[in-house]
Amino acid sequence: MTAQIIDGKAVAAAVRNDVKEEVTKLRAKGIVPGLATVLVGARPDSMSYVTAKRQACAELGIESFPNELPETVSQAEVLALVNKLSADAKVNGILVQLPLPKHIDEESILNAVSINKDVDGFHPINVGKLGMKGREPLFAPCTPAGVIELLDRIGATISGSRAVVLGRSNIVGLPVSLLLLGRDATVTICHSRTKDLASVVRQADILVAAIGKPKFVTADMVKPGAYVIDVGVNSLPVLNPDGSQAISEKTGKPRTKLVGDVDFEAVKEVAAAITPVPGGVGPMTIAMLMKNTLRGAKAAHGIT
Ligand code: NAP
Repeated sequence: MTAQIIDGKAVAAAVRNDVKEEVTKLRAKGIVPGLATVLVGARPDSMSYVTAKRQACAELGIESFPNELPETVSQAEVLALVNKLSADAKVNGILVQLPLPKHIDEESILNAVSINKDVDGFHPINVGKLGMKGREPLFAPCTPAGVIELLDRIGATISGSRAVVLGRSNIVGLPVSLLLLGRDATVTICHSRTKDLASVVRQADILVAAIGKPKFVTADMVKPGAYVIDVGVNSLPVLNPDGSQAISEKTGKPRTKLVGDVDFEAVKEVAAAITPVPGGVGPMTIAMLMKNTLRGAKAAHGIT
């Protein structure tokens, strides 16, 4: 069996298109959804993520409220900004780009984000609601919500399935496990202390890998016909035929390639469907952020 390759770019484009249509309708009623981004310092990766989020807003008709603070900013100043944005009626979503500099207490900043504007879904109340029966939070974290959206859009049956999640981080493993549980899957979470991990993984109808270990999941660990969602993003060196590091002619820097936590080439021969890296889960994160911002705007105006 060769698996269906799940095209995350196409699914993300469809989600963004749906959001754009709804935003257009809201704007016609005089409601302009707004997303505030908070960037502290000048990490190149954080700057490019924030830029991509602002571009997505511009494409979809969502207003951006960019906030950039220097690396040396105090905890009190970041807190004051988040409190101001939480009180600003034009702002429907607040995204604090992580990681924050070491001298800033991330937990207290995230706790200050209004739970009605917590489009990243990281506020402990929203995470708590995610885990409680019958208590749906307004926002689920974007990457985990993207995993569920991918499964839904390819027609995977989540309810009653055996789901195994590799990784228990606050941003991916734990929330994706709670979302799968909320959809009535029987969920097992594996982590670095899990014994006989391969035999647990082999039971999965749905396997979500989020550990950050290149090609960790091999074909013999995957149940034939499983849905495999690879969240991992790992950078590997590109080697020349003689085994030496390949150098980019353009930049003069060592060439690297991105791979997931799953051995894609081998596992696609066993699975029913699989996400590639790149081009699988990655594009879903910003699409779900846009969807969450729309949801925040609708909730703020009492629209269901
Ligand atoms: P993380 O915070 O480092 O957590 C890794 C998790 O994997 C931990 O729970 C850890 O277990 C577990 N783990 C590590 N090695 C393991 C092993 N050998 N066997 C079993 N479990 C193991 O990572 P993260 O932030 O969740 O990210 C995971 C991956 O997803 C990374 O590659 C990251 O780049 C990627 N990611 C992608 C997106 C996206 O596509 N949009 C978004 C976020 C993250 P312990 O808890 O026991 O330490």
